[in-house]
Amino acid sequence: MAACVLVGVLVAGSVALTSPTLAHRPFTTGATPRAAPLVVRVGGRVVTFAGAGSDGLRTRIAADLGAAVHDVEAFWGVDWPHRITVITTDSDQQFRAQAGGGSRTQWADIAAVAVADRVDPEQRSASGQRIVFAPGAVGMSDAALRIVLTHELFHYAARADTAADAPRWLTEGVADFVARPATAVPDAVPLPEALPSDPDLDVPGPQRVLGYDRAWWFARFIADRYGAGTLRALYVAACGPGHSDLPAAVEHVLGTDTAGLIAGWRQWLS
Ligand SMILES: [Zn+2]
Repeated sequence: MAACVLVGVLVAGSVALTSPTLAHRPFTTGATPRAAPLVVRVGGRVVTFAGAGSDGLRTRIAADLGAAVHDVEAFWGVDWPHRITVITTDSDQQFRAQAGGGSRTQWADIAAVAVADRVDPEQRSASGQRIVFAPGAVGMSDAALRIVLTHELFHYAARADTAADAPRWLTEGVADFVARPATAVPDAVPLPEALPSDPDLDVPGPQRVLGYDRAWWFARFIADRYGAGTLRALYVAACGPGHSDLPAAVEHVLGTDTAGLIAGWRQWLS
């Protein structure tokens, strides 16, 4: 597992869980329990479930797959892997093993993760790709679970077109743009002096949640002001294999400099 590439995570706190922590909460279905599907076909794609998570959770994820695939294709297009692996876990230990190791603290508020064993950007291929759900996913509301699935599915779809040294905050912001409903930005948001940065995402807790939100607001600003297609072009220019640095990508794709971009973003936020 040491070779796992961490593709992207979603902080549980950023998607309004029904519970403030990822507690182990038993999932109850309605009156008629259904056997969970192990393989689900969604359009031309085949989704295989593995791992020890509950049948109830797998059934809920399976029910969301059609909408999640649709949302990812609407933004990213259809040229991405047709085989998708989803792993549900029933212990923190199993989750960490599937997610590529790391400390317990590192995963403290992570709802799910998309990982790959190996990525070859030149061949546009990724092997061992999987979406891994933390055990606490079982306690998520339906809305939160769908956001998490769609967010991770975007990482999955974009993986072979995402460089290992891409600005993570932008990959996360775009994943959230694809996955989250465009709710109103809170009134009291402090206006940014700079673009988001990767360290904003590294400290578990409120700072990380705010870091994800700021990256999401940035992506929404770009899509509102320039169009979703231009947001996609910025992703490719700033995060794709052989990408330029962010200021050059911004200049090339948006025709403005970083200062102008921050000024526009502040205006959008206020
Ligand atoms: Zn992510």
